[in-house]
Amino acid sequence: MAKEKTLGPTRTAPSTNGHSGGPHVAPSRTQCALESFGLKKSYRRGKIEIPVLRGVNLQVRRSEFLAVVGQSGSGKSTLLHVLGTLDQPDGGEVWFAGRRVDNQPARRRDALRNRDLGMIFQFYHLLPELSTLENVLAPVMIAYGVFTYYLRRGEHVARAKKLLDMVGLSHRLKHKPRELSGGEMQRAAIARALVNRPQVLLADEPTGNLDGETGAEIMDLLVSLKAQEKLTIIMVTHDQAIAARADRVVRLVDGKLRAA
Ligand code: ADP
Ligand code: MG
Repeated sequence: MAKEKTLGPTRTAPSTNGHSGGPHVAPSRTQCALESFGLKKSYRRGKIEIPVLRGVNLQVRRSEFLAVVGQSGSGKSTLLHVLGTLDQPDGGEVWFAGRRVDNQPARRRDALRNRDLGMIFQFYHLLPELSTLENVLAPVMIAYGVFTYYLRRGEHVARAKKLLDMVGLSHRLKHKPRELSGGEMQRAAIARALVNRPQVLLADEPTGNLDGETGAEIMDLLVSLKAQEKLTIIMVTHDQAIAARADRVVRLVDGKLRAA
């Protein structure tokens, strides 16, 4: 299935809704993989409204590795979920490759997450009944539909095996997640996130459940995959040392982003 064209030829500026033009001039829109303008999000606990995002403006260049650091509870996961269209903001906009995405219908957002955005999480979220190889192939099956998938199954399996080789898991193809170590599970999750060749990888505390050495290996892997696959990466973490591996670090404080 062909990827949807993502950059509208006439679209040169975001709609005026939710932000002023002021601070968002550079980089140019076509250089941006993912952007947000004035993102707001609150949670309600009983009668009390708790603001988590209070106007997040973000521009991530293509092939940039951006780390967002912040304390536990500062809203990092909330921000990543809103950027990844898993959750909708109360205000503001999210733009992917020059097109607004936060206001798209659920079906379009599902397709965007399946094909254009890869995601990895602290606790991997692999499907326990599937082998490593099957976990990596699952997003391909969803993208193509079962029938079309089987028509080109050999090609898909070859792609999945190549990725599993790149993440160092060639010897674990048939293992179930419970038979893998934490680092191996995150490697499998990374291969799964990349199998449909997304432009952007969103990572939520990807080393948060790993020991220091294994976490550093996962960071080595992300840095090298970024170069090989021309990926844009947005990673949130509470860990300054992990964040320092990124090209640029920003800090989420009081619901807004600041230079770190
Ligand atoms: P972080 O990832 O930085 O630790 P989160 O984005 O998970 O922070 O949470 C930010 C704040 O929002 C926290 O105070 C958390 O308790 C609250 N929160 C997150 N998700 C929900 C939810 N679904 N309902 C109510 N409050 C939530
Ligand atoms: Mg979190």
